[in-house]
Amino acid sequence: MPSIIHTKRGRIALGIAVLAVLLGAVLVASFQGRIGTASAEPLVIYEVVVDGAVVAYVEDPDEIRRAVAALEERETLARRMPVRVTSRVEGRPLQVTADQRPRLSDGTVLEDELAQAVRLAATAFAIVVDGEPVVALRSEADARAAVERVQELYREQLEAGEFRAPDGTRIDESVQIQTVEILENIRYEAVDADTADIKDVDQAVAVLMRGTDRVVAHTVQSGESLWVIARNHGMSVEDLEKANPQVTDPKRLQPGDQLNLIVPDPYVSLRSVEVRTYQRPIPFATRVEYDPGMYPWEEYVKEPGRQGRRAVVERVERLNGEIVSVEVLSDELISEPTVQVVVKGSKEVEGIGSGIFRWPLNIPGQVTTRFGYSRWRGRNHDGIDIAAPKGTPVYAVDNGYVSFTGWKNGLGNTVIVDHGGGRQTVYGHLSSINVKKGDQVTKTTVLGGVGSTGFSTGNHLHFEVHVNGRAVDPMPYFQ
Ligand SMILES: [Zn+2]
Repeated sequence: MPSIIHTKRGRIALGIAVLAVLLGAVLVASFQGRIGTASAEPLVIYEVVVDGAVVAYVEDPDEIRRAVAALEERETLARRMPVRVTSRVEGRPLQVTADQRPRLSDGTVLEDELAQAVRLAATAFAIVVDGEPVVALRSEADARAAVERVQELYREQLEAGEFRAPDGTRIDESVQIQTVEILENIRYEAVDADTADIKDVDQAVAVLMRGTDRVVAHTVQSGESLWVIARNHGMSVEDLEKANPQVTDPKRLQPGDQLNLIVPDPYVSLRSVEVRTYQRPIPFATRVEYDPGMYPWEEYVKEPGRQGRRAVVERVERLNGEIVSVEVLSDELISEPTVQVVVKGSKEVEGIGSGIFRWPLNIPGQVTTRFGYSRWRGRNHDGIDIAAPKGTPVYAVDNGYVSFTGWKNGLGNTVIVDHGGGRQTVYGHLSSINVKKGDQVTKTTVLGGVGSTGFSTGNHLHFEVHVNGRAVDPMPYFQ
């Protein structure tokens, strides 16, 4: 039978060692000399020697044999499995005088002293993964339960949606798990194991899934990064990340956070197959109808569109939670999408199309910056700047409707007027705005007052003309 050996990694390796376990305690008790009666005379007592070390003294070597038997019985009852003392336990005669005589043990006191010193072993059941015994449990039933639990835990994670779903929008999705299996070959084998190395089911599950049931935690201190923690513990940052999948953003590590310092190195790989049934939405198209009875800034939904649906059945294979393959088993049309119909106004706004602009102010003002590239500014100027006192009324240069009012970066308070035919005018740096979006305007409508809002060094109107979305020089419009 293999016996249990500790490796330096704290794992349990079960090597196929020769059965070195002693069946029961070996008691070497030789009777030399006689027990004295007078205190002056030397008397013989017995050292209780466990694997070479003296742990107690007894008067009668039979005490040792009885204590070992009692201890084995006690442990057998406590652990509900046959437990043997595997240490070499000896009674070694020692001559002492009565006044030198050490404290003598017997009965349960001796039993407790032995319990502290001896090694105990039992026949346990190892879970053997691809020929390597990785963990020992009390019974074969426990060993099998641990392996089943590993598969159950994976199934629970899968059911709880802890693993990533395949891409795409999914409606009314249901998941049917077909198989969850361990890829490695698993066997169960009776082994001799030190009782300290016999794990319960939960511990064995941890060993199978993480490579160890040891937990080494680190509490993050202020100023510590993953890199610092990894270096201080002789780990790579990669390993530290692997050990802490819960840390999604290392920059948000807080003092007091707990990190796991043991890199999971599972003994088992889990493969699963699930069938996912869901509906996939089909987006609808939009058709625009024009109504000459409505203004261009008006629109409404005449017929709301409806998404279509496809019914999809997929077979998804995973390895340790990661998707390995997605196979579409069926993909059927349930309903076609319906087109959304939107009505937009196309009414000719009165006066539009004259293309002849009035000056935006009632005073000439001074054109301080012209349109186009300025070497002095180092960039293009999209309009003209007309200096005027604050509050000077700003007029719409032609008929149209207001398509924007509000704040624009750089331009501050801004009004944009749409004149139809692809022409728009822009009025910037306004101190006030008198119109709102959708307002119809004429050449006599005051849009607001000259100001210096936004990126401006003094009161002036910044005025732009756009034709089909491109800024053009406004000056020719005033000729
Ligand atoms: Zn300007």
